[in-house]
Amino acid sequence: MKYISTRGGTAPITFSEAVMTGLARDGGLMLPEEFPNIKDKLTAWSSLSYTELAYEIMKLYADDLTEEELRTVIEKSYATFRHPETTPTKKVGPVYILELFHGPTFAFKDVALQFLGNMFELILNKTGANLNIIAATSGDTGSAAIHGVRGRKGINIFVMHPNGRVSAVQELQMTSVTDANVYNIAIDGTFDDAQAIVKTLFGDLSFKDKYSLGAVNSINWARVLAQVVYYFYAGLKVMKETGSEKISFSVPTGNFGDIFAGYVAHLMGLPIDKLILATNENDILSRFFNTGVYNVEGVHPTISPSMDIQVASNFERWLYLHAKRDSKQLCDWMQQFKETKSLTIGNPDELDEIMVAGKADTAKTLATIKRFYEESSYVLDPHTAVGVSVALEKAPTSPVICLATAHPAKFPDAIKDATGKSGLATAAEIEALKGKPTRKFELPADAGAVAAFVIEKLQ
Ligand SMILES: *Cc1c(COP(=O)(O)O)cnc(C)c1O
Repeated sequence: MKYISTRGGTAPITFSEAVMTGLARDGGLMLPEEFPNIKDKLTAWSSLSYTELAYEIMKLYADDLTEEELRTVIEKSYATFRHPETTPTKKVGPVYILELFHGPTFAFKDVALQFLGNMFELILNKTGANLNIIAATSGDTGSAAIHGVRGRKGINIFVMHPNGRVSAVQELQMTSVTDANVYNIAIDGTFDDAQAIVKTLFGDLSFKDKYSLGAVNSINWARVLAQVVYYFYAGLKVMKETGSEKISFSVPTGNFGDIFAGYVAHLMGLPIDKLILATNENDILSRFFNTGVYNVEGVHPTISPSMDIQVASNFERWLYLHAKRDSKQLCDWMQQFKETKSLTIGNPDELDEIMVAGKADTAKTLATIKRFYEESSYVLDPHTAVGVSVALEKAPTSPVICLATAHPAKFPDAIKDATGKSGLATAAEIEALKGKPTRKFELPADAGAVAAFVIEKLQ
């Protein structure tokens, strides 16, 4: 399997090369040249364990690795999860909850970033190269990426988070990691500013090459790939259990990475009825799928901070496929968007037959947390609650699996606001962080300042 850029300006490369390059050299995102159709394998796949299924799916895309290499990376990555099923699904009230938060940092980002950390190590061991990761985080990617690479030989990580806009637990999960190879940067700006800095630094190819920059944001294809696995795992299980021939998923969305992985599962042949895209007040994507117009507004801080994003980098992958892989068309759209901050793609009814979108504001999110706690004694985190709220509103006819993207213990203030009770959701690992020594560096939201910082620290 070879990988190409959405912008059409790079020669096809292997999986390992795509993982190491992160953002494509022409500024686009990497995608496989085709999506294998696996419809005839669904029955066999429905009885596999999580790691067996991960191997079957990933080997289709990572065919430049040996079987042993890939199996070892997968085994190591999911051995750190606290649940034997890695990502279990539970029936809660009217929906199924797919718990993706049993990894080291209690958010779904661990599913991909444990895998990516081990993949980096495997590839670097083979080539003897070094890697300096530059990342932007709205809260959860940062800690998951840091836990994926802390203390690893040949890797440094620089993570920018928007100063004061991540939850206290999220900040502590990052800044309490004081390994020498970890640099937490608090940017005076928003997540979008941080993501734009990542893109600027990767766009300077001589800087990228000289300092061996690597990406852990979901611009990295390996992250999307790792997330495809749980759509199959949960989807096949719930289809088997309910006898339904189709399944829907509701996905709390920020950067469009997670839901794009579901889209890939659909393209491969998983019988998905609807993919429900759920946003908080930062609803650029939900407006887009309802109107056909993609235009940026200001970022609103919310109680689901990991979704406080306006410009979703993975949306480019969907746009490229929507343009039937016409890079020229995609480049025109990206240029128009860059110049006018707005893009009109067309009639919303013809955009995509499986995508459905909606938003849940703070009041709806809190009400959903309260309802599930009172009716089912189940505590949803605020991101998950956004997805559940929109799922109930859209109510597809097929069973709905709601992705639980974080553990509620990460967001105790929101849980208390919703239920009036404190201490409902706790985790010993998170409690243990309190009072630990921390380290962070404050910088302006400026690519030049971040570049200078990286150079200074690497000397
Ligand atoms: C990152 C994140 C999201 C959004 O996922 P995207 O892939 O960026 O769309 C939702 N919920 C939580 C808890 C997250 O950490």
